[in-house]
Amino acid sequence: MKTILNYIGGEFTKPKGNSYLDVYDPSNAQVYAKVPDSDEADMQAAIAAAEKAFPSWSATSLEERHEFLMRISKRVEKDLEELALAESMDNGKPLKLARTVDIPRVASNFRFFATALMQFSSESHEMNGQAINYTLRRPLGVVGCISPWNLPLYLFSWKIAPALAMGNTVVAKPSEVTPMTAFLLAKICDEVGLPKGVLNIVHGQGTKTAAVLSTHKAVKAVSFTGSTKVGVDIATKAAPLFKKLSLEMGGKNPNIIFADCDYNKMLQTTLRSSFANQGQICLCGSRIYIEKSIYEKFKTDFVQKTKALRIGHPSEEDSDLGAIVSKPHFDKIMGHIKLAEQEGGRILCGGKPVHPDGNTDGWYIAPTIIEGLVSGCITNQEEIFGPVVTLTPFEGEQEALDLANNSDYGLSATIWTQNLGRAHRVARDLEAGIVWVNTWLLRDLRTPFGGMKNSGVGREGGLEALRFFTEPKNVCIDYSKT
Ligand code: NAD
Repeated sequence: MKTILNYIGGEFTKPKGNSYLDVYDPSNAQVYAKVPDSDEADMQAAIAAAEKAFPSWSATSLEERHEFLMRISKRVEKDLEELALAESMDNGKPLKLARTVDIPRVASNFRFFATALMQFSSESHEMNGQAINYTLRRPLGVVGCISPWNLPLYLFSWKIAPALAMGNTVVAKPSEVTPMTAFLLAKICDEVGLPKGVLNIVHGQGTKTAAVLSTHKAVKAVSFTGSTKVGVDIATKAAPLFKKLSLEMGGKNPNIIFADCDYNKMLQTTLRSSFANQGQICLCGSRIYIEKSIYEKFKTDFVQKTKALRIGHPSEEDSDLGAIVSKPHFDKIMGHIKLAEQEGGRILCGGKPVHPDGNTDGWYIAPTIIEGLVSGCITNQEEIFGPVVTLTPFEGEQEALDLANNSDYGLSATIWTQNLGRAHRVARDLEAGIVWVNTWLLRDLRTPFGGMKNSGVGREGGLEALRFFTEPKNVCIDYSKT
């Protein structure tokens, strides 16, 4: 049994209440580790440590901060296999996915912001030969970073790296469902000599720990990725203190397929955008809209390809899908499938738990395709966040847009068409923060990342993240002759 510890003020510490939560391996439903069930006292200690570390960290040179972030990045690359194994075991995702996507992205998050901070500059505005304004961007102070379980270290580092790059000190709260790689990251930071208190990691339930970040005066900003429900709680509590907030929340993303698309590329990519990471990626396209003329062909081919996907133990190289992250989440997804049937949906494949290789203990669900549902039903409106997609036919651009935009969410969307004008028109009119045309999940870390409507407030990535973690101040200097 492994024991995870908090990382506060450069020390690995037990929770003050000496209480722990179970951590499960989703592939066999066994408890394999325990994680601190920290409380407000642990959080207060972490915030105090971050406050103490802020003056000297914020005074470090760009080169020093660049060097620390690069050292972390290189250590992540060196430990790739260990981190990938830990991520796969904690989350249930196929090891090959953790090895090729999650952990390499952690290394590039640190590398990207290490180099971005060296190139960062702020604006200046000259006034008719009379005065010059320049924008001074100072670090905020102590900032809170809260992340979810679906891409555990990938999203954790996506927040921590820009916050540290800009000279802030951090109190971070990884998901209690998948805490292992954040613990391993704390060890890496310790080993590369990151000064004490610059990064503090507190484990435990969000309501007892991370919620303190929303109400504590010393915490100047909260960067959160997770459910819209928790985002509402953070926004409500943080509003009276006028904290800076970056909220990356849920999605119910449309995947719009026009008849003139590159069919084979679309089919292969739609398989991934539907079921990668067991459909537990906020950017997965769970509402698939298909132009009527190719609906039956697409349905037949998509069902056939989906049935051929291999659901297996996350460690096996040929597993396309691994296990669902937790029992509560497994139950939630199964509940949604039942509800879809009650709403009149026809299950074309999947819809059931599976027991790969006779394993009856893990939480596995067969990739599920449903048709015959109306746009406004719960299945098409609520985020399921599992290997479940719906198929709906449409006729013409306007109907595709109406269906796609009929959602409280607005995170991402995908369009498949070879018609250039249509691609631009539909991209413009879609209510989504990110639109992919003829591809999915192709990411340039310099671009603004985030959602509209109930999917988010603010943007991460590139300059957006660097700016978020600073306080802009305008300095106006009159240089006119008196
Ligand atoms: P969640 O909202 O339940 O938890 C996210 C984090 O918030 C966890 O660390 C949790 O402990 C913490 N938390 C819980 N209650 C809190 C509170 N009251 N105050 C502060 N923090 C609290 O989300 P989850 O189930 O871990 O993750 C799945 C959700 O994340 C899905 O809705 C998914 O769409 C979303 N997500 C969004 C993005 C994006 O970029 N928009 C990316 C990944 C996941």
